[in-house]
Amino acid sequence: MVIGALEVGGTKMVCAIGDENGIIKEQISIPTVSPEKTFPEIKEYFNDKNIEALGIGCFGQIDLNRDSKTYGYITETPKIPWRNCDIVGEFKRSFNIPVGFDTDVNASLLGEATWGAARGIKNALYMTIGTGIGIGVLAEGSLVHGMLHPEAGHILLRQHPDDNFKGICPYHKNCFEGLACGPAVESRWGVKGADLAGNDSVWELEAYYIAQALYDYILVLSPEIIILGGGIMKQEKLFGLIHRKLEIFNGSYLLTGEFKNLNGYIVPAALKGDQGIMGAIKLAINEMGI
Ligand code: ADP
Ligand code: ZN
Repeated sequence: MVIGALEVGGTKMVCAIGDENGIIKEQISIPTVSPEKTFPEIKEYFNDKNIEALGIGCFGQIDLNRDSKTYGYITETPKIPWRNCDIVGEFKRSFNIPVGFDTDVNASLLGEATWGAARGIKNALYMTIGTGIGIGVLAEGSLVHGMLHPEAGHILLRQHPDDNFKGICPYHKNCFEGLACGPAVESRWGVKGADLAGNDSVWELEAYYIAQALYDYILVLSPEIIILGGGIMKQEKLFGLIHRKLEIFNGSYLLTGEFKNLNGYIVPAALKGDQGIMGAIKLAINEMGI
């Protein structure tokens, strides 16, 4: 089968051709500018590939309610050219094929649940900590959409007593994303995340916020595995710091096997950066109903 996959990101669009086993045959990346400029470039790539279906993992907010008039649209977003953009309709009209659609984080989770770290697991959580923070949730084998889709990067949490940073979220200021996403780290410390590797205070504080958020997600959703991705998690020492902080937040409350083996419970993506695009392949396959 020839499947098209598209990852719609704030800085780049990844376009790929894969098959029903999630094998990526080729891929390219196109800068994200505006629908007027970027859609023709994406279409040109897929035009001569004879794709049978297309899967799209997309930044939010997006409309996933199939009964809605704006199903398949990007809706509210700080990325102004992309507001109210009918992305699914655009590709359906051009290629006349099934188009699967979900959030970028749900796509990554689906990739990991199909071919990666969450294979065979029915309750899983994927979180990216990069330019923004987002989570995808698999509950009893289904990706959670609900009213909209989880927007758990924006949860409100307890600010560290020594941290007087105001936060950068345009909607809530010091929500989780406003305090801990990549641009928040850069704004607080005045240096790019990658250049802060040797500064332990940065990652202690970052782990404090990530572990707090994860503890809330764990208590509410009871996931059996948690996968962490995104640019900030390239600081691999964060995993150990997060584990330790979680143990402190938890005390002696949750005593499951998962909590006794945090190294196996909170893990990096097994698909090593391809989880989003492989998940988009799976979204296309699911949309074909096979
Ligand atoms: P996006 O969220 O836009 O898809 P990424 O997941 O790559 O992109 O996240 C980008 C953010 O991650 C930026 O704020 C960047 O500074 C930060 N980042 C990228 N690499 C590293 C690194 N090695 N260490 C810490 N932060 C990083
Ligand atoms: Zn927010």
